[in-house]
Amino acid sequence: MKAMCGISWKLRNRAELVYMAVWAYPFLCCRNRWSQRVKGKKRMSDSIKELTEKIVAFRDARNWKQFHNPKDMAISISLEAAELLEVFQWSGPDTEVDTDKKLDKVREELADVLIYALLMGHDLGLDIEEIVSSKLDVNNRKYPAEKAYGRADKYTAYKEKNTNDCL
Ligand SMILES: [Mg+2]
Repeated sequence: MKAMCGISWKLRNRAELVYMAVWAYPFLCCRNRWSQRVKGKKRMSDSIKELTEKIVAFRDARNWKQFHNPKDMAISISLEAAELLEVFQWSGPDTEVDTDKKLDKVREELADVLIYALLMGHDLGLDIEEIVSSKLDVNNRKYPAEKAYGRADKYTAYKEKNTNDCL
C-alpha cells in the first residue's frame, strides 16, 4: 500500500509539473521574446559603437586624424555620395539595382558614405542614435503621415495647404 501511495504521489507530482508547465509555457515564451527584443536593441546600439571604434582604429593605425576636420569630412561624405550616384549615371530610364555588379558598387559606395558619417559624428561627439531619432521626430512633425501619405511633395507644400486652410 505504501508503494502504491509512493507511486501515486510521484504521479501526482508529475501531473502537477505538467499542469504548471502548460500554464507557464506561454508566459515563458513571451518573456523570452521580450528579452530577445531588448537584447536585440542593445545589440544594435553596441554595434554602432563597435563599428565606430573599428573605423577610428583603422584611421588611428594610419595617423589620418590630422586630415579629418569637419569641412573635409563633409566634403568626403558628399564625394562618396556622388560616387554612389555614379552607379546610375548614363543608365537611362533604369532606376533599379538589378545586377550584381551594380549592387556591389552600391554596397561599396554606401559603406564609404556611412564610414565618413560615423567618423564625423564621432569627432564631433555626436550620439548617432540620438541625432537620427531626433531628426525622425522633426521629420514626423514636418511630414505628418495623414498629410504626406503617398505624396512626394516637400514639407512646405503641406504648410502652404495649412495656410490656405486657415484663410
Ligand atoms: Mg568610394
